[in-house]
Amino acid sequence: MRCEVCGKEIRGPPFRKVIEGAKVIVCAQCAPFGDSEWSPAKPKPQVSSKPTRRSEFELLEKLTLVEDYGDRIRQARQKASMSIEELAKKLSEKESVVKKLEKQELVPNDELIKKIKNVLKVDLLEPAETVKSPKTPKPSEGIALGDLIKIDENLSQEKLKKSGQ
Ligand SMILES: [Zn+2]
Repeated sequence: MRCEVCGKEIRGPPFRKVIEGAKVIVCAQCAPFGDSEWSPAKPKPQVSSKPTRRSEFELLEKLTLVEDYGDRIRQARQKASMSIEELAKKLSEKESVVKKLEKQELVPNDELIKKIKNVLKVDLLEPAETVKSPKTPKPSEGIALGDLIKIDENLSQEKLKKSGQ
């Protein structure tokens, strides 16, 4: 390592000095020319995780209950071949609560939404923006869920055929 002021090989420990505003590494002879010392940049503690957490939090805040939560609960329950009684038990709620939920006479609280998500694997929350959007026919309207599954099956069969060739 050479002194950045005199250019001589630095013998002994180098000195980090600020000379005329520039951070230089100098020898012991040139060290007195420096105004002050500087220290090498320390690896900064990772602060990148903070903004991520914040954005996740913001996202959670913007989530709101879907408009058709009653239908979603009922459909998910029927798909799981579960009776209202069974679902009520799994949710540790009364049957009347489940009935009211499906009729949308009862708005589930956060805890209940989580339980429903765990039991029925159905998410009753969606970003708030989509709810505020004017009611327009959904693009998937007219296509029943069964049709979608059929389409999907056909696609995967085609894939199989292609991969088999
Ligand atoms: Zn020097």
